[in-house]
Amino acid sequence: MKLYQVEAVILRSKIMREADKMLTVFSRERGKQRLVAYGAGKSSSRKRGIVQPLCHSQLLLNKGKVLDSVNQCELITVFSQLRYDLDKLMLSFYLCELMEAITVEDEPNEPLFILLLTTLRWLDQVSIDLPAAEKLVTGFEIKMLGLTGYLPELGCCVECGGEINGRLKFSFRCGGVLCANCFDIDAKAMLIKPQSLNLMRQMITSNPGGLPKLQMASGNFNEAKIILRLFTSYHLEQRAKSLDFMQVLNTMEKPGVY
Ligand SMILES: [Zn+2]
Repeated sequence: MKLYQVEAVILRSKIMREADKMLTVFSRERGKQRLVAYGAGKSSSRKRGIVQPLCHSQLLLNKGKVLDSVNQCELITVFSQLRYDLDKLMLSFYLCELMEAITVEDEPNEPLFILLLTTLRWLDQVSIDLPAAEKLVTGFEIKMLGLTGYLPELGCCVECGGEINGRLKFSFRCGGVLCANCFDIDAKAMLIKPQSLNLMRQMITSNPGGLPKLQMASGNFNEAKIILRLFTSYHLEQRAKSLDFMQVLNTMEKPGVY
């Protein structure tokens, strides 16, 4: 039996068969992993409360042929406040969904693990109300894009490299801001105010704990939030398409299978 330890945040948990649970976790050591927790669905199981979504847990894992399984587990942080606030709970599940969608299995990314953990810790604070929680989540989103290689170009025109001033648009397809001379390149680009763009830049450099304190007009925050959310889903869609394409290619490479 080959055992190893990881520190992980549980992103998702579902009943697999009978009382076993299939988990998706993000660990400091290995990144996204799919695991089995045998017997964790039983009401008497000690593992039950430790392998729930949004638990920060220490897991002793048993290397398996297909999936590794949870041998022992210990709770590190429970984020109890989140569970009493439906809005914050939904926002936290959104973070977990994003993490699951944007990362690939067995690719460690410790800064991203720390970002997730720190954001959940801040969301769990009683003093964080819904507007502050929204700032934390939008800040998480742009930082996550940066840590996974999808950060949009916000410093100059993504097409011509020119300075950005005057009227600006944000292009999901080109991956950043366009100057007025380059508007024609993407008919679907959205107008963006310089203040909203500036806010995005501030969010990248601010620590998670500083996000709730950032001064911003609600109109600019909403614009930045909507554009970032659309940009993230655009990337996830493109990535899903390229993964499908890779699967088709892999099938075709096998001799005799067309
Ligand atoms: Zn340009």
